[in-house]
Amino acid sequence: MIPVVRSSQPAVLRKNSAKWLTKLREAQTQYQVLNSAPDAKIAQVKEAKRRVDNAQNKYRHSAVKDALDNMFHGKCAYCESKITIVTYGAIEHFFPKSVHIELTFEWRNLLFSCDLCNDVNHKGTNFPLDGNGNPLLIDPTDGITDPRTHLEFVWDGIAGVASIFGRDQRGRAVETIFDLNGINRRKELVNHRSRYIKRLFALLRLAQQGDNEAIALLREACDPSAEYSAFALACIRPYLS
Ligand SMILES: [Zn+2]
Repeated sequence: MIPVVRSSQPAVLRKNSAKWLTKLREAQTQYQVLNSAPDAKIAQVKEAKRRVDNAQNKYRHSAVKDALDNMFHGKCAYCESKITIVTYGAIEHFFPKSVHIELTFEWRNLLFSCDLCNDVNHKGTNFPLDGNGNPLLIDPTDGITDPRTHLEFVWDGIAGVASIFGRDQRGRAVETIFDLNGINRRKELVNHRSRYIKRLFALLRLAQQGDNEAIALLREACDPSAEYSAFALACIRPYLS
């Protein structure tokens, strides 16, 4: 994870978010009334639910997706993998929309994430809070929190493994929920990231011998648009002049 500067709100949200929220609340009220009415027909309840889903899904506007894609350089807010090479990615609600309906169309609550980080096995509606009710997970766009103060990026050159460990409770929540070290199901994430970081260290050896192309490639790897740039900044940047 790296800090990301939030861009300005897309016009479609500025124009419509209040209206969309009103319609979503109305649709939800109608659904709740029908769902608890003993004489309601199943078809009526299903139709009411469909209206809720339609009202909720307005946030999936292409202009919103494009703005998030640009803001995050096509990378996942949480695992920093490049998303848009192989999939369209997901619009992720930092505060879950199932709990915070009022934030469904709020620009400041929207992030860009890969399908796996967004999956129910990882973030889904998992949103742990500390003892004061504050989120343990990290919003990289909040302008206050640098995720890298909570996470440690460790390269094991002998095992050839690039690991990300939480430095504190918040970092450990990120590490665990997104399975950043492949303890559960995301072994391919760790394998892919480790192979990539291994190549960077091979380039570093060339760079230290004065290879200008290697130096240029490593500088690119430290750019915020590069995959796993947090790792490159922590482990490679200190060795570049
Ligand atoms: Zn991800």
